[in-house]
Amino acid sequence: MRMNGCLLAYTDTTLLRNLVRTKGSVRDTMAGDDRERTELIWQLRQIVGEDNVALDEPMSKHTTFEIGGPADLFVVPETTEEVRDVVAACRQAKVPYFILGNGSDLLVSDDGYRGVVVCLADGFTNVSIDGSEMTCQAGVSLREASEMACELGLTGLEFACGIPGSVGGACFMNAGAYDGCIADVLKNVRVIMPDGSVETIAVDDLALGYRKSRIRDDDLIVLSATFALREGKPDVIRARMDELTYKRESKQPLDKPSAGSTFKRPEGYFAGKLISDAGLQGYKSGGAGVSKKHAGFVVNLGGATAADVHTVIAHVQDEVERQFGVRLEPEVRFLG
Ligand SMILES: Cc1cc2nc3c(=O)[nH]c(=O)nc-3n(C[C@H](O)[C@H](O)[C@H](O)COP(=O)(O)OP(=O)(O)OC[C@H]3O[C@@H](n4cnc5c(N)ncnc54)[C@H](O)[C@@H]3O)c2cc1C
Repeated sequence: MRMNGCLLAYTDTTLLRNLVRTKGSVRDTMAGDDRERTELIWQLRQIVGEDNVALDEPMSKHTTFEIGGPADLFVVPETTEEVRDVVAACRQAKVPYFILGNGSDLLVSDDGYRGVVVCLADGFTNVSIDGSEMTCQAGVSLREASEMACELGLTGLEFACGIPGSVGGACFMNAGAYDGCIADVLKNVRVIMPDGSVETIAVDDLALGYRKSRIRDDDLIVLSATFALREGKPDVIRARMDELTYKRESKQPLDKPSAGSTFKRPEGYFAGKLISDAGLQGYKSGGAGVSKKHAGFVVNLGGATAADVHTVIAHVQDEVERQFGVRLEPEVRFLG
């Protein structure tokens, strides 16, 4: 099946429905004085609508770790203009903001975030196809994108079928797995620049490397990404996706909340092997521990706090360095 120039709308309103809208004022510790805060809340409601602004939103509901205290404000924009205006309002009020995708690479502090979380994973879910090019808005999940590509007989995104991130987060991280990564299939991204302008940037100008990009370094906000795929046979694509899913399910602790591989791969080593060789598999602090199934994952064993995860990460870093002289660098990003 080939669909030219069609627009497929995947609008999932679950998150919007689930937002707990707390009555009352934002906690006192949010940056800026009271008048500015009240003004900001009013402005954000004007921009995205009252239903798309939540106060004191628990971040544990928006991270795959299922950990994290409240964000002072949680905003769900649905258009480019809304994102731009939300960010401009935060900047003007001198209140920090954070762009959230699926929260699958994130550890949010137990105290939460004193600022505005701008969630793109819900309002930006359109996909359009033009020949073998697929343009996904930033909030489309990589899994959906790879499923759709498979159904359309387009090959290239099979590697992404088990990565639980959004297209925006995946471009930011240059996500990859099993010898494939975003850089291999990305044509360009449409972004909001720090000055508020909207630009299309070609992949060659994004400085994509191992879990890094200009998107991260230059504070760009991804609105959409265009992937240059190739025609393939759906049954062959499906078979490859099934194979990768099997590998993932057999090796990774997918039954436990986590943020995936906790550490980056150090040059010349594998983080998981170093951790297991250091005898740390099963090491625990509170509700967090090094997975017994895959040493590269710190998992939430039940009721873990961010402090528990930090303790496990620090212990693993120290012990691996002591035993092997290699300092592991977290891949998971910290917020708050
Ligand atoms: C079980 C499991 C398995 C995983 N396997 C893999 C794997 O095989 N390979 C891999 O690379 N990763 C893997 N991950 C990690 C994670 O899924 C990826 O890094 C993913 O790309 C993060 O996307 P996200 O939308 O969840 O980003 P988030 O966690 O929401 O955010 C991550 C960073 O991206 C930024 N960001 C998000 N959206 C945007 C946007 N629109 N514009 C600008 N910046 C943005 C955020 O500000 C943040 O700094 C795994 C995670 C889990 C839980």
